[in-house]
Amino acid sequence: MNLKNNPEIDIIRASSSKINDVDFENLVFGNIFTDHMLVCDFKDGKWQKPVIKPYEPFLLDPSAKVFHYGQAIFEGMKAYKDDSDAIWLFRPDENFDRFNKSAVRMAMPEVPEEVFLGGLHEILRIEKDWVKKGKGNTLYIRPFMIATGTGVVAAPSSQYRFMIILSPAKSYYSGEVKVIIAEHYSRAANGGIGAAKAAGNYSAQFYPTQLANKDGFQQIIWTDDATHTKLEEAGTMNVFFRINDTLFTAPASERILDGVTRKSLITLAEKEGIDMQVRSVLVWELVEAAKNGTLKEIFGAGTAAVVNPIVGFSYKGEYFELPKVENSIALQLKEKLTNIQYKLAEDPFGWTV
Ligand code: PMP
Repeated sequence: MNLKNNPEIDIIRASSSKINDVDFENLVFGNIFTDHMLVCDFKDGKWQKPVIKPYEPFLLDPSAKVFHYGQAIFEGMKAYKDDSDAIWLFRPDENFDRFNKSAVRMAMPEVPEEVFLGGLHEILRIEKDWVKKGKGNTLYIRPFMIATGTGVVAAPSSQYRFMIILSPAKSYYSGEVKVIIAEHYSRAANGGIGAAKAAGNYSAQFYPTQLANKDGFQQIIWTDDATHTKLEEAGTMNVFFRINDTLFTAPASERILDGVTRKSLITLAEKEGIDMQVRSVLVWELVEAAKNGTLKEIFGAGTAAVVNPIVGFSYKGEYFELPKVENSIALQLKEKLTNIQYKLAEDPFGWTV
């Protein structure tokens, strides 16, 4: 695919830029968007010509299916700028593939590579000044697709809109994270949509997370829906546990999102010679390890925060505080990964594009 000067995309430039109004030092995650957005509609059974145009609201019919049946999916990725002003993406093919897997699961049309990756390349060329240099500065990329077809019949839409919007972000730090282990609510079930980045997966977490927040916990560690005995994900991140010097994370499954950060951390850990085991950790194992002092670290892994250390967890009303570790594997792996993302270290895996 030739990504240079893509003639397959119409471009309407904004008459002025908002960039000088933005305080790049004090960004709140996901609140400010760049000057342009990419829009591509699916109708009459095919994808239409994509257009990059000024960022603006748009009209939808009140009966559009996205409002009633939640046919909506998204992705989350980031662009980074190195010291020579080159812009880099991290494993964008993974996001593209996962987006189309989500599309298939939600009975939506797959988005062509020229539209998703070609369109992303083009909009990043236009918005290059919004990607700031320096570790911790990123441009968060939000591709998404909604069902725009009209009619409240509960059936898949025949019309869709794919879009890409971009939001400058500082590296995400959510403060000290304490989690509660889910005993009743579930994020996903076998045969369900947990492996898709479907909008409803996220809204369904809001209420149980509000309940956890009321009790002083920032996130929930989700367990398997059938038995609530296997530890699966932390909030909207994959989760890793370090017991002694072994690192564990659950296999991606129908219930667990196949995270790009997770996958990359597993590869990095293995390369670093860390004992990395991909298997489910059981709740009782975690509680026992916390009690006998072998539980060293828990951390979430995802694009937004990269690695998010967890300081303690609650289970059946009992709170377990994690010890302060000196050589945090979480922080070591985070450093290695972000150095690759910002081109501060060699990328032996060919992850950066
Ligand atoms: N699990 C869930 C449920 C998520 O929403 C995310 C964020 N995309 C992740 C895990 C982490 O995935 P990634 O590393 O690809 O961002």
